[in-house]
Amino acid sequence: MTNGLFLEADLHTHTVASTHAFSTITENCEYASQIGVKCIALTDHGMAMPDSPHVWHFENMRVLPRKIRGVSVLKGVEANILNYDGNLDVPEKHLANIEWLVASYHRYYFENFAVADKKTVTEGYLKLFERYGVDLVGHPTTKNFPADWDILAKAAAERGILLELNESSVATGKSPRENVLAMLSACKKYGCEIAVDSDAHFWSAIGSAPLSSKLLEEAGFPTELIVNADIDRLRERVHKKHPEIEI
Ligand SMILES: [Zn+2]
Ligand SMILES: [Zn+2]
Repeated sequence: MTNGLFLEADLHTHTVASTHAFSTITENCEYASQIGVKCIALTDHGMAMPDSPHVWHFENMRVLPRKIRGVSVLKGVEANILNYDGNLDVPEKHLANIEWLVASYHRYYFENFAVADKKTVTEGYLKLFERYGVDLVGHPTTKNFPADWDILAKAAAERGILLELNESSVATGKSPRENVLAMLSACKKYGCEIAVDSDAHFWSAIGSAPLSSKLLEEAGFPTELIVNADIDRLRERVHKKHPEIEI
């Protein structure tokens, strides 16, 4: 990791469909292609986010080709974990079309939000895992939703769910360094795979994770546990769930 980690895929990216993001899917792919990123997951926000797309956006992703500018596109969503009962905002019938399900807590739709204790937050994740075929937990290191990373990493590893190291969350200070290091240590302990993602809201952020790279190095985190450091590893994972998808 001498020059930082190179992401062969970026599994959490946004487009103008979430209006606080500023690039189109084509612009994102154009840039990904230029820098050698082979696959991106299109993961605009689920409907509980105030400026998210209409559910038709998710229904109609079938019109998108598999490859745009030579870059494979996984048609996904960043669904909102609505409460500590682990419910998502995207109805199950719509999730049937989703190829890549990221599930994240955000504070915006919690009434009178206050930071909950680790036990409550973690139980929310465990209930979520029971009910949904989650691929990736988005930014589980955020200080607004402190988790018990030992319990979370163990449960995620058992179910083959990825935890995320989210560059944007680190860069904005939403995910403090001590949380990231604690999560990485738990992932190492339980052999839990992670994805390192930009969470790009503009094309130039695609595939970029310099702060995350430093933290991974500091943690001595094994590259073999980073699913998107190697497109073949990602391909294998996607194939297991969706044999028809060629990325
Ligand atoms: Zn998010
Ligand atoms: Zn996001």
